[in-house]
Amino acid sequence: MESELLYKGKSKTIYAGDDNQTCILEYRDSATAGNGAKKAEIEGKGVLNAEISSILYQYLEKNGIETHFVKMLDATRMLVKKVDIINVEVIVRNIAAGGFSKKYGVPEGTPLKNTVMEFCLKSDEYGDPMMNESQITAIGIAAKQDLEILKNMALRINTLLSSLFDKCGIVLVDFKLEFGRHDGRIILADEISPDSCRFWDKSTGSKLDKDLFRRDLGDLAGAYREVLRRLKNVLQN
Ligand code: 5GP
Repeated sequence: MESELLYKGKSKTIYAGDDNQTCILEYRDSATAGNGAKKAEIEGKGVLNAEISSILYQYLEKNGIETHFVKMLDATRMLVKKVDIINVEVIVRNIAAGGFSKKYGVPEGTPLKNTVMEFCLKSDEYGDPMMNESQITAIGIAAKQDLEILKNMALRINTLLSSLFDKCGIVLVDFKLEFGRHDGRIILADEISPDSCRFWDKSTGSKLDKDLFRRDLGDLAGAYREVLRRLKNVLQN
C-alpha cells in the first residue's frame, strides 16, 4: 500500500507511518539554495544524507539526546517519531561563515569567542527571518522554558558533534537544528547532514558541505561520500 503523502519539502518528503506515532521521512536527491532560487538534482545525495543523518542520530541517542529517529526502512527512507514541529530553526555557530559573515562583516573563518546561537522563523514565505527570544515567546511559537530546553540541547549537541567530527578531521563550523514535540517531550527532529551543517576539512580547509552547491565549487556528492567514509571509519574503530 502507498503511504499517504503528508508534506513535500525542498529536499525531503514526509509520509504517514503505519500508526499515529510515526512518519516516514524520505531523503531526495533535490538540492536547493537561496530559499529555492537555485535548484538541481544531485544523484546519490538522498542516500548519502539519509545514512549520514541516521549515523548522527544514533550517535546522539547513545549520548543521551532523544531524536525522532526510529530506524532505516531502506536506503533513503527513515522511520521517525511523529512530532509537532516547533516553528524555529536553531542555528549554532563555532566559526564565522555564511550568513553571519555577510550580515556582520566578520571574515569567514574567524573563530568566535563564544558559541553563537540564533533562532530563525521557519518560513519560506518570509525567508526564515532571525527572531529573538521575546519575539518567539510573544507570538507563542515556544514558551520560555521550552527555549531553555532547546538551547541546552543545542549546546550539548554542539559539544558531541564537534568532538565526533574533530576525530574525523573535520571542523564543525556551524549547523541548523529543528525540534519537535512528541508525547509531551521536546526531541530533535529534521536532519543533520552536510545540507544543514558547514564542514571544513581540518588540514586543508576545503569545504565538505552544501556550500559546494550554493557557491558552485565542485563535486557535492563526492564530498558527502567523504564525510560518510570518515564517520564510519571513526565510529567503527
Ligand atoms: P547561514 O545562516 O550561515 O546561511 O547558515 C548557518 C548554518 O545553518 C549552515 O550550516 C546552513 O547549512 C544551516 N542552515 C541555515 N538555514 C538553513 C535551511 O533553511 N536549511 C538547511 N538545510 N540548512 C540551513
